[in-house]
Amino acid sequence: MSRGEADDLLRTAVETPQDLRERINAWRRDDKRVALTPTMGALHEGHLSLLSHAKARADVTVATLFVNPTQFGPGEDYAAYPRDPARDAALLQEAGCDQLYMPSTAIMYPPGFATAVHVSGLTDRLCGAARPGHFDGVALVVTKLLNQARADIAVFGEKDWQQLAVIRRLAQDLDIDTEIQGAPTVRAADGLALSSRNAYLSPEERRTAPLLHAVLTEVAAETASGADLSASCAAGARRLREAGFETVDYVQALDGVTLEPPADLSRARVFGAAKLGKARLIDNVPVRGSALPT
Ligand code: AMP
Repeated sequence: MSRGEADDLLRTAVETPQDLRERINAWRRDDKRVALTPTMGALHEGHLSLLSHAKARADVTVATLFVNPTQFGPGEDYAAYPRDPARDAALLQEAGCDQLYMPSTAIMYPPGFATAVHVSGLTDRLCGAARPGHFDGVALVVTKLLNQARADIAVFGEKDWQQLAVIRRLAQDLDIDTEIQGAPTVRAADGLALSSRNAYLSPEERRTAPLLHAVLTEVAAETASGADLSASCAAGARRLREAGFETVDYVQALDGVTLEPPADLSRARVFGAAKLGKARLIDNVPVRGSALPT
C-alpha cells in the first residue's frame, strides 16, 4: 500500500459489514490473500505482533477495533475498558495495516438480535468457570467477524490460549473457511505478558505482576521433571496469594488442545489467572515434557 497521510487508516476505516466485504472483495478480485486481526483496541506490542504475523502470511491486512459488550460479565470492566481509536489507528498505520474495521455496537447487535454461539466443553473450565458467559460472547463476536470478513487467515494471540482453542473449534464446527492461526505471546522484559489490562496496575502491583509468569514457568519445569501436577499447581497458587494476588482463579496444567487433564506431557500447558488490584491477569506456558510420571 502507498504511504499516505498520518491519519489515512482512521479516515478510511469502514464501519459496516457491507463496506468491509466490498473492500475485501476488491482485493479478492486482484488475487490478494487477506488476513484479519481482531482486537478490542488499547493496542500494545502484543497486538502489533499479530499484525506482523499476518503481514508475513498475507498480501493485505485488516484489523478490527471493537470492544465487544457481550463478552463482559456484569460488574466487569466494559465501561472502563481503555478506548483510544485515534492512537490505535496511528499504531496500526505505522505497523503497515491496510484497512481498519470499526463497527459500532448497534451495527454488530441491532435491535432484534437473537442468536447465540456456544462452544461446549472447552468453555466450561479455566476462564470459562471464572467468567460465566464470557466465551459465549467471544464465540459470537468472532463468528460474526469471521463471517463478515471471510479472510483467508485470522490471527489470534496464544496469550489467550483458551480463547484460541475455542475459536479453532468453532471455525471447524461451523465450516468457516478462514484458517485460524496463533501467534506467540509478547512479554515485557520481566516476563509479564503484555495486556491492555496491565494499565490498571499501580506501580507496586506492576512490580508484583511478573510473578504470574514466573510461577507458571516454575510449575511447568516441575511438571516436566516429574512432580505431582496438582501439588505443584496448588503450591504455585499459594505463592501468588502470598505475594499479594487477591484471588487466584486457577493454576492448572491441561492438554493444550482438549483442555482436559493431560494424558501425556507433550502438549501440556500450565494456565494461570489471578486478580491483582483492578486487573485480572492471565497467562500460560508450555510444559515441554514428554511423558507423565507413572
Ligand atoms: P484483545 O484486544 O485483548 O481482545 O486482544 C486481541 C488479540 O490480541 C487477541 O488475539 C489476543 O490474544 C492478542 N493478544 C493480546 N495480548 C497479547 C500478547 N501479549 N501477545 C500476543 N498476542 C496478544
